[in-house]
Amino acid sequence: MHTRPSLPRFVGARALVVLGALVAAPACEDATPQGVDPALHDATVGEVETLVADMPDGTSERQYFLNATHPATARLRLRFTAEPGLATGDRIGVWGDRVGGDEINVSGHVLIPNSPDVGSVTSALIGAPAKPRTAVFVIVDVGGGSNVTNAMATSTVFTPGNNFATVYDKLSFGIMKLSGDVQGPFSYPMTSCDYNGLKTAVKPMITGTYQHYMWYFGSKVSACAWSGIGSEGNATRPQSDSWYNASTGCTVLVQEVGHNMGWMHSSTLACTGATFVDDPTTCKSSEYGNRMTPMGSGCGQLNGHDAWYGGFLGGCNGVKVTASEAGAGERPAAQELLPRVPRAVGPRHVDQDAGRLHLRG
Ligand SMILES: [Zn+2]
Repeated sequence: MHTRPSLPRFVGARALVVLGALVAAPACEDATPQGVDPALHDATVGEVETLVADMPDGTSERQYFLNATHPATARLRLRFTAEPGLATGDRIGVWGDRVGGDEINVSGHVLIPNSPDVGSVTSALIGAPAKPRTAVFVIVDVGGGSNVTNAMATSTVFTPGNNFATVYDKLSFGIMKLSGDVQGPFSYPMTSCDYNGLKTAVKPMITGTYQHYMWYFGSKVSACAWSGIGSEGNATRPQSDSWYNASTGCTVLVQEVGHNMGWMHSSTLACTGATFVDDPTTCKSSEYGNRMTPMGSGCGQLNGHDAWYGGFLGGCNGVKVTASEAGAGERPAAQELLPRVPRAVGPRHVDQDAGRLHLRG
């Protein structure tokens, strides 16, 4: 089905405000898009699900799906010609050619505003509240047996654990205790990279419910180019699924679940002749360049802003400053006495190649 985009690809803030006013009225929330806003005519409407695939060569690829609710319920792969800057949970209307029944070559899309931002949180300067989470490590025989036994997986992931639970305990200063189980092995022979099919088939076999499902391929699936892939969530709305291509390294185990909770890759920027030059486009960026944090290429502590984002720093150890607020030099003197975590704002990723520094907003 080919449909014509009713709005340009990039929608300005003013247009979004108008659209938000139209769809935010409670009486209209469950109405069909055509009944709410002519601008969404012919659009496929649903909620975005993003996944980030971590490739062995040090690159990554972001994949976009639409869990469509209108005109019919479907899970559709979205193919964009340029990075759309969307995140899991975004509600959008999308236009384009349907390909193969379950894909859309996107010719245009529009963001439908969701609920308001997190807002502000008040808490003690130290003593951030505990944030325990549960996970299950699911061993799946995809056709080549498993390179880990359940006992090995338990000792790697949970107790005594050296590659997952203890790392989260350490990087969260004891605030995020991850507990769980190893289950399997289950059988799901794979010839293509149908990791979502694996989840759908195996999940009913899992005993109990968990906040994170770590789907582990017991042998390497060559059709999957990545070492690990994680569904991207955010701090207030974590996602639950991650997949591992026969790899139990600390970085990949911690990082994919980290993506579930909204952390992005920790990159570095190497500039010739200076720590940081005026024109950063002359610098060389490395997506996984930070060798300290599991969100880069290490297994140690998180960046300060990631620790703040995860809720591991209490109170005013971290302060969110938006673009509309006064600059750093204009803060009241009393606040200058507090330790702060430097943090940029904007879209949801670091884009150093373009010379811009963005972190999730
Ligand atoms: Zn990653």
